[in-house]
Amino acid sequence: MSETETKTRPIPSPAVTIETKPFWDAAAEGRFLIKRCNACGKAHWYPRAICPLCHSSDTVWEESPGEGVIYTFSIMRRSPTGPYAIGYVTLNEGPAVLTNFVADDLDALAIGQKVKVKFQPTEGGGPPAPVFSPL
Ligand SMILES: [Zn+2]
Repeated sequence: MSETETKTRPIPSPAVTIETKPFWDAAAEGRFLIKRCNACGKAHWYPRAICPLCHSSDTVWEESPGEGVIYTFSIMRRSPTGPYAIGYVTLNEGPAVLTNFVADDLDALAIGQKVKVKFQPTEGGGPPAPVFSPL
């Protein structure tokens, strides 16, 4: 599998805020962080200071292997930068992540397929963005 043959598209530099800086700092080191709530015990995505499930502010960062399954996806074939795929991954920890998929063969993507996070450089020198590829 050659990195240069993967189907992908340029990803704009992410907006880094105080709330999300730990995530992007970890991403720059190739580590995938999610947030977990100490009050309800559930993980959530995207990372927020306030738990979206129970509104507690008792949330902590947790390193995740970034593995899950494709919940749904769509291949965009008419794009000036070539075909690309976006969709949702259900992480093993539970939350759904809206993401770009990177694969040698986009037509081989399938709902239920196991995928894992990787980090793709973004435009403008910002931190790399999480994308998902088949395991
Ligand atoms: Zn909670």
